[in-house]
Amino acid sequence: MDYPIETLRHSAAHLLASAVKQLFPEAKFDIGPATEQGFYYDFDLEHRFTAEDLKALEKAMKKLIGRKIPFERFEVSRDEAKKLLADQPYKLERLADIEEGATISFYKSGDFTDLCRGPHVGNSGEIGAVKLTAVAGSYFRGDEKNPMLQRIYGTAFATEEELQNYLRQMEEAAKRDHRKLGVELDLFGFSDQVGPGLVLWHPRGALIRHLIETYWKEEHYRNGYELLYTPHIGQSTLWETSGHLNFYHDGMYAPMQIDEKDYYVKPMNCPFHIEVYQSRLRSYRELPMRWAELGTVYRYEKSGSLHGLMRVRGFTQDDAHIICTPESIEDEICEVLRFSLHINRAFGFTDIKPYLSTRPEKAVGEPERWEKATASLAKAVEKCGLKCEVDEGGGAFYGPKIDLKIKDAIGREWQTTTIQFDFNLPERFDMTYVGEDGQRHRPYMVHRALLGSLERFFGILVEHYAGAFPLWLAPEQARLLPVTENQLEAAKALRAELLKEGFRVGIETQSAGLGAKIRAARQMRIPYLLVVGEREAANRTMSVRSRRDGELGELSVGEIVERMRKEVAEKTI
Ligand SMILES: [Zn+2]
Ligand SMILES: [Zn+2]
Repeated sequence: MDYPIETLRHSAAHLLASAVKQLFPEAKFDIGPATEQGFYYDFDLEHRFTAEDLKALEKAMKKLIGRKIPFERFEVSRDEAKKLLADQPYKLERLADIEEGATISFYKSGDFTDLCRGPHVGNSGEIGAVKLTAVAGSYFRGDEKNPMLQRIYGTAFATEEELQNYLRQMEEAAKRDHRKLGVELDLFGFSDQVGPGLVLWHPRGALIRHLIETYWKEEHYRNGYELLYTPHIGQSTLWETSGHLNFYHDGMYAPMQIDEKDYYVKPMNCPFHIEVYQSRLRSYRELPMRWAELGTVYRYEKSGSLHGLMRVRGFTQDDAHIICTPESIEDEICEVLRFSLHINRAFGFTDIKPYLSTRPEKAVGEPERWEKATASLAKAVEKCGLKCEVDEGGGAFYGPKIDLKIKDAIGREWQTTTIQFDFNLPERFDMTYVGEDGQRHRPYMVHRALLGSLERFFGILVEHYAGAFPLWLAPEQARLLPVTENQLEAAKALRAELLKEGFRVGIETQSAGLGAKIRAARQMRIPYLLVVGEREAANRTMSVRSRRDGELGELSVGEIVERMRKEVAEKTI
């Protein structure tokens, strides 16, 4: 039988716990969910797990797989559950999380029994292949006030072949890890003094960000958007009206007092855009509004969940809000989707897949509005010639959404674009427009981000290109390499000409051998190396090596400019 991959992986987590119980009977158990990449299980144990232990545990797990042990479910009362978990303090806390009156179920596989909602595979033999990948510290419930547990990571697949593919992909991913390349290419950094999750963009990274932002802004104006700038902080009354202080309080930074009023750093841009809308009475003739902002927001993330640029505490969303009449909503969504594909493709992502999330059980807004909105999302996807996967009930309480996932150069999926309806904020802020009938109506509102955040998108870009940015994004597009000091002046003159043509060109001034100069430039993934020796200096030419096309021979400034212009216009590699 084919099981969902999560079921397979969560079942493998039980096997891991079972193996730990065999080899380290004194271990205390927390939980072991499936994750996007595999699974983990958290243990409390005085002994520190070593690489050797992981090998032994993996071996024990494989034995359990070979024995085809059935997973058996049974339900018990709360008192019986407490008895079963009497010597497992973390499990008892997890048990206390289960609502009064809810079913309490356990799964037994061989000698191991776990408090668990399920589901699981029929028997352990159905887990085709497992691999334990790492061990790391992890606070109980992710809270640093709690004890530190040991988290063992692993992954599981239906077949050995899929596992091997995954491991190859991981190896490739480690080579292009943006945190490693961020240091090597001097793109960005963090500082303990500044604080965790707060990014410092170094000149080379900042230059790439500038190019992304400029392109993004120009494309927005070209595609019927207007740009806004709004403040970083807003009064508590704003966040009360928006509801953020109620449902998003944990994600917000503590307030600061100014003139005896509380001000909060913004976790989202929406309320500010709404205030612009509310600045005067709006007519249906003005709609749709398409207001975009590169808005920097701050959100509290647990320190344990921070990860390079992928998860940070301060980031800049490429945000926009579309406010329109119900009649134009379908066209608007279509347009956003088309625009998103256009932007994502410009950055080299051509494999894009939409996911549609529909109405959850607890939701605000009239059901008819939900239906119309969901239908318009689905139709827009169809019109763009895409097929979407539907996540029934997976929408936010305030509206349905479409997420787009892009595939990177090594086949990993990343969510970038979100197109999210909102039936909550227009209500809370009492947004209206005067319709053709002279009456007040409630507009539709859609939040959308195409790249997500600049920080995370930049991290994805670094990994996608493995640091070798296409010419239009490369911070240093070419570097002049004088063979000896005698050619330095000639190289400087050539550089000045290329700078005048608008290219970003560096020059190597160290007195090292040519081989060392080339190696240093290659390490920085510079697209064009322009070597100037005696002959070239006399001819006012350069011997050109392109990162993409190899040796190009001796070219004049004019020839190089023409070539680079063409390549920049192509955008992607
Ligand atoms: Zn389970
Ligand atoms: Zn918003």
